[in-house]
Amino acid sequence: MTATAEAAVYRLGEFHSFDARGERFLYLVPAGAIFQVDEAVGALIDCLSGSESPHDQLIENLISRGLEADDAKQFVTEMVHANVIVTGRNVPEPVQTPPADFPLQTLVLNLTNQCNLSCQYCYEFGADKVATPEGKPKFMDFETAKASVDFLLQQSAGRRSIHVTFFGGETLMNFPLLKQVVTYASQQAADNGRHIDFSLTTNATLLTPAIIEFLSANRIGVTVSMDGTKEMHDKLRVFANGRGSYDIIAPKVRELIQNHRTRPIAARVTLTSGVTDVVKIFRHLKQDLGFHEVGFAPVTTSPNQLYAINQTGMNGVLEQFHVLADEYLEFALRGEAHGFSNVSDTLAELCQGVNKSHPCGAGLGLLGVGPSGDIAPCHRFVDSDVHALGHISTGINREKQADFLKRGHIDSKYDCHTCWARPLCAGGCHHEAFVRYGDTGHPNLHYCDWIRDWTNTCLEIYGAIAARNPGFLEQFAERKASS
Ligand code: SF4
Ligand code: SF4
Repeated sequence: MTATAEAAVYRLGEFHSFDARGERFLYLVPAGAIFQVDEAVGALIDCLSGSESPHDQLIENLISRGLEADDAKQFVTEMVHANVIVTGRNVPEPVQTPPADFPLQTLVLNLTNQCNLSCQYCYEFGADKVATPEGKPKFMDFETAKASVDFLLQQSAGRRSIHVTFFGGETLMNFPLLKQVVTYASQQAADNGRHIDFSLTTNATLLTPAIIEFLSANRIGVTVSMDGTKEMHDKLRVFANGRGSYDIIAPKVRELIQNHRTRPIAARVTLTSGVTDVVKIFRHLKQDLGFHEVGFAPVTTSPNQLYAINQTGMNGVLEQFHVLADEYLEFALRGEAHGFSNVSDTLAELCQGVNKSHPCGAGLGLLGVGPSGDIAPCHRFVDSDVHALGHISTGINREKQADFLKRGHIDSKYDCHTCWARPLCAGGCHHEAFVRYGDTGHPNLHYCDWIRDWTNTCLEIYGAIAARNPGFLEQFAERKASS
């Protein structure tokens, strides 16, 4: 023990305390790490609750609670290293801004900005759209796609694994290009000694046996946008003439799930006012249709839209999330997959010790490319002149990228600085922030209590699994969050 340590004054570090099936844990906020509390740590927390303590006094206090003097000193040193307690000198460094040349990992290619559905809530076509597609190509051509793949390979130097995600509009309206890109990118990646994988999001209306065969043969991950039972789905996911799309897609989805044998098939549900029965939607998509995973996201919109979910609705969504979360835990303790991907995605982040400088990879390891070749922070910003970060023919505009990243950095979000959920939330989606507040760097303060409640629920699930069936968590070491 050094003289410096003996002069130290200790206080509790920044953490969120939670219980999981009778075990107590700390979520250490500056590190984004989880720490199980045993009797000694509990005693230490009690000693420092609400006050600071000089070194000698803290050691005395711990001795009076049953520790030997040498053990108490050693223990205090360990707890300082773990950031459970801190002194004025060892306050952890804030999260650093990643460099602007952070290597790219995922490129989202919006193969078209056209869609054969007219979903009223669509962020691309609806009232809150940020895109300005006027005068730009409606479909991406092969030259632009090829340049995009070359850009990805060049900008991802140092990464062995890279990803291409296909998006729209409706992605499959440009399926011939998708096939060309898969062939070209696979060859280029192989020539460069890289591993590449592909995924797409679709409304499923255009799936055919031949397309399914191609997707399966090329191990292309598929996420289907689908909102539940026929009654729920057809409320807003309609063709231009107002006819619902459920009857068209349900048989195609069944066929996809049955015949795409190389990757699990996921459903992504957009919750809107009146379509908030999460448990019923989950049961239908998982059990009746057979999706492997189902994930939910409340619609991104300004609060005055008719389909926006109000506070009461969001509280109801949270209650139903809890029902599925409880089920998830029971499945996990038996070593079984449940399929509620909102839990799996957060468990993956917790297992990987994620501590975010930014809410997501947009503008960092992930970029979107629109049909015109405009580069955007992510798929939701493509075709938007205001948000363009360059063009695939001329490369990325580093100044605009740096500005986007600076505004979106957690350090710029004053309201988040005292929030324990910031290692995972970091202020929330840039696109939602723009739609709600007109600034991609604004924290999404309309859902903080919701986010903290849900994060706490996932922490409890993590803690219970870690204590009782830790092997279950191994699958999350590499998993990426579903988008
Ligand atoms: S947006 Fe809200 S929940 Fe998210 S980090 Fe900021 S204060 Fe916390
Ligand atoms: S969280 Fe929002 S900003 Fe980030 S990638 Fe998703 S849609 Fe884009």
